[in-house]
Amino acid sequence: QKKEWAKLKNEPTKSTDGQFVELVANIGTPEDVKGVIDNGGEGVGLYRTEFLYMGKSELPTEEEQFEAYKSVLEQLGDHPVVVRTLDIGGDKELSYLKLPEEMNPFLGFRAIRLCLERDDIFRTQLRALLRASVYGNLKIMFPMIATLDEFRQAKAILLEEKDKLVSEGSKVSDDIEIGIMVEIPSTAVIARQFAKEVDFFSIGTNDLIQYTMAADRMNERVSYLYQPYHPAILNLVNNVIEAAHAEGKWAGMCGEMAGDSIAIPILLGLGLDEFSMSATSILPARTQISKLSKAEMASFKDQLLSMSTADEVEAFVREKTNQ
Ligand code: PEP
Ligand code: MG
Repeated sequence: QKKEWAKLKNEPTKSTDGQFVELVANIGTPEDVKGVIDNGGEGVGLYRTEFLYMGKSELPTEEEQFEAYKSVLEQLGDHPVVVRTLDIGGDKELSYLKLPEEMNPFLGFRAIRLCLERDDIFRTQLRALLRASVYGNLKIMFPMIATLDEFRQAKAILLEEKDKLVSEGSKVSDDIEIGIMVEIPSTAVIARQFAKEVDFFSIGTNDLIQYTMAADRMNERVSYLYQPYHPAILNLVNNVIEAAHAEGKWAGMCGEMAGDSIAIPILLGLGLDEFSMSATSILPARTQISKLSKAEMASFKDQLLSMSTADEVEAFVREKTNQ
């Protein structure tokens, strides 16, 4: 099996009917990039920048961040690198950033909510990213976007910092795509409206599933409700992909679901453009996709979207794809 995978290491990801998708990796540090390249990744679909902020006694400086972003971009050359701005809060705490205790941290003051209020922290990160942008193919995305206002505010701050840097004489790339993570149901539902303003979507199913099913992703007692194949999830994912395509934008996925062998045929059929997963899942996924017909998977779309349970979906996919 390993040999079969290895043959596809330097190949594009193509279905039996000649349709291409992009297989990229989730990373947490510049050191992870080697694994992406060794596993045939076509870029980075999610760089979780939290690690720069964690396990330290103070906020990382602009310079420290700049070096990390530059390193990732340089190592990947022309390949796309999607960097997610700080997604702290929820389960991830920072000892030096004193935040009031909350009853429901996952529904609380985290990610973009914190960044818009503490825009000093946000601006430092954005400046580091903008300065690094000339070293590769950078795309920036904001986490936990629940309203268009949040996206507009975040984008406005980004553009402000860009203007400042340019007037200070720094070089900044002129074609940085600006997108959002779709991980809150409200955003998935009105993806049409978002698609007019964002450059791309990346669906964060880890959180999208927990918020849609109202089942804490860390709580074993309710893990039976954490159902990636639930038709409600598939309908939201489909809505996001259709919305993106209606506006000529691309849609990716960076939650665990993107590397799952039952989900992959479904997502291929729904027209997902980019699949971001752990580096070690890339070659198995490329091998699987090389044996699937995108048109055939697409022909199951209406049937899948109108199913009633996750079990029904799973059984159907297993039968159609011999798993
Ligand atoms: C997600 O929510 O699917 C995601 C990719 O982000 P994280 O797992 O870091 O919350
Ligand atoms: Mg998330």
